[in-house]
Amino acid sequence: MTDQQITSSKEAEIELFSLAGNDGNLREVSPSFAQLLGITVEEISGKSLLELVHPEDIGNIVAGIAELEDGASEVLMESRFRQSDGRYVYLQWIARPLPNSNLWWASGRDTTEFHRLVNETADLKARLDLALSHATAAMWEIDHMSKALTLESVASQIIGVDVSALPKSIASLLSLFGESEAEAIAKAFENLATQSTMEISSFFGDGPQRRYVSLRGKVISFDRRNRPLRSVGLIVDVTAEKALEEQMLKMIMSDGLTGVPNRRAFDQGIRSQWRLSKRDSTPLTLVMIDIDNFKKFNDTFGHLVGDDALCAIARALGSQVNGQDEMVARFGGEEFSIILPNTNGDSALERCERILETVRKVQVRQAPDWNFSVSMGAATALDFPKELKATDLLASADRCLYAAKESGKDRVVAKVVDTEVSPG
Ligand code: GH3
Ligand code: MG
Ligand code: MG
Repeated sequence: MTDQQITSSKEAEIELFSLAGNDGNLREVSPSFAQLLGITVEEISGKSLLELVHPEDIGNIVAGIAELEDGASEVLMESRFRQSDGRYVYLQWIARPLPNSNLWWASGRDTTEFHRLVNETADLKARLDLALSHATAAMWEIDHMSKALTLESVASQIIGVDVSALPKSIASLLSLFGESEAEAIAKAFENLATQSTMEISSFFGDGPQRRYVSLRGKVISFDRRNRPLRSVGLIVDVTAEKALEEQMLKMIMSDGLTGVPNRRAFDQGIRSQWRLSKRDSTPLTLVMIDIDNFKKFNDTFGHLVGDDALCAIARALGSQVNGQDEMVARFGGEEFSIILPNTNGDSALERCERILETVRKVQVRQAPDWNFSVSMGAATALDFPKELKATDLLASADRCLYAAKESGKDRVVAKVVDTEVSPG
């Protein structure tokens, strides 16, 4: 705001005081000025003006008085006056010589509220800048009547277009995203009309330029029928945060030694695959695997070599599944499990035989003569009656594994979980 705007603001003009040039003392004090400071007229009369103002404003007042003494017709000043409670009130005041006297008369306006707003705005801006400085973020604004979108120029860094090519409507913003992303974002913008807020995160762009952006916004003004008029929001580049989140998720779901999915990932995997297989009525096979004679291996070569063997076997098992919907997980210790969707009893047996072959070929440098083998239990569900649970499939595979161990190891025992007979 300019001085002009302050002067023409609606703050009422107040008569303040008369001032003697030779000593800077107040002579006559108006009741409204005394009231503003929270003291009586008597207490204040005769005091030096300089005692009443903020120390930082003394210099200006001294200079103003000097101007008046030099014959200026008026002097405009803004000073902070101390109130009885120690707080300051801002006054923009003007002093003019009183005719036929060595006195000046001052009147002015209370501009405290204006300064409070200016400070508050600067404070908010500083906080916003600080928040935004930690991210590549840009503000956007939508005029719902004209459907115009205004994006701050920093948005060009986020969406990778020239400032001049920044989208000027929601439709042109959406055209920058892939089809399914654009559809979801369009829905999120529609949310503004129904819920007054929107929030969505989405991938954007291809290849190394691929980014993850977050869009959040809210309606800031409505028409009389409560329809949105204007909305504001932020677009933030959260690619780094997304990468970190994915990395953390991978860590939480991976086995620290072998790198294959861990027990937590397996538990989630079997639950969701059970739901899918049940929904689509497709067969599901679960295989439990236990390395044979592994204690002896550890006792012979030591636990570090044992760790290498676990990794080599995990790799061998991994080579036997497709990464799409099949999963090898470390179930615990020297036990692994494999989830094979769309796999019936015959294919399960075939797949397990191939896995046995692969494990027999595993070699560990420090134990070149050791013959690795595993025992396997495979349970297949062909249909999914209500009473059958995912845990039944697991229990069944486990029993098969014990049967494989008992009948000589290095083999698979497979079973189709028959719904006619209770699982077992
Ligand atoms: P079986 O053929 O009947 O399965 O006999 P086994 O020796 O393989 O089975 P047992 O349960 O007696 O021993 C399992 C061994 O696996 C003992 C344990 O120290 C070892 N083991 C489990 N986890 C790890 C691991 O992370 N690293 C290493 N080096 N060894 C492990
Ligand atoms: Mg075991
Ligand atoms: Mg074992």
